[in-house]
Amino acid sequence: MNYQKITPISVADGLGCRVVLWVSGCEHDCVGCHNPDTHDAESGYLFGEEAENRLFELLQPEYIAGVTFSGGDPLYFPNVGTITRLAKRTRSEFPKKDIWVYTGYLYEEVKDLELMQYIDVLVDGKYEQDKRCVGQFYGSTNQRIIFLKNGRVQNIDYESY
Ligand code: SF4
Repeated sequence: MNYQKITPISVADGLGCRVVLWVSGCEHDCVGCHNPDTHDAESGYLFGEEAENRLFELLQPEYIAGVTFSGGDPLYFPNVGTITRLAKRTRSEFPKKDIWVYTGYLYEEVKDLELMQYIDVLVDGKYEQDKRCVGQFYGSTNQRIIFLKNGRVQNIDYESY
């Protein structure tokens, strides 16, 4: 898997102060996408041991609420194995921190992935320019903030943010 960057602290990509991993690779081609440079899975840098160590070091401070996987699309098929492994490792090493994943796929398309067992929130759906909004945590009103527990939907929230 390749990645674009790691943001050490963000308050715009989920609740609380979060570390964000921006991966490469996306096949959705949403009109008006703000990150077109991320679509090519070969763009950016190889997500190797050094980058992974940095990600987990950044997660250590207590004020960090959790990790967000964004992109690109973390659920672009070739990325899923690495993201699943990172989510499992986060669960194991930081059980009190939460895991958010942004994807252009719908929850219904990805609900059977093993990854769903380990994440707390899935923000799903393509970016739709005519539904653009300035609300926090998503870019267009069709996207949903889906809270999960052990892969099961707890709550779907469009409006609280
Ligand atoms: S899913 Fe995200 S990164 Fe991919 S094309 Fe749509 S807006 Fe861009």
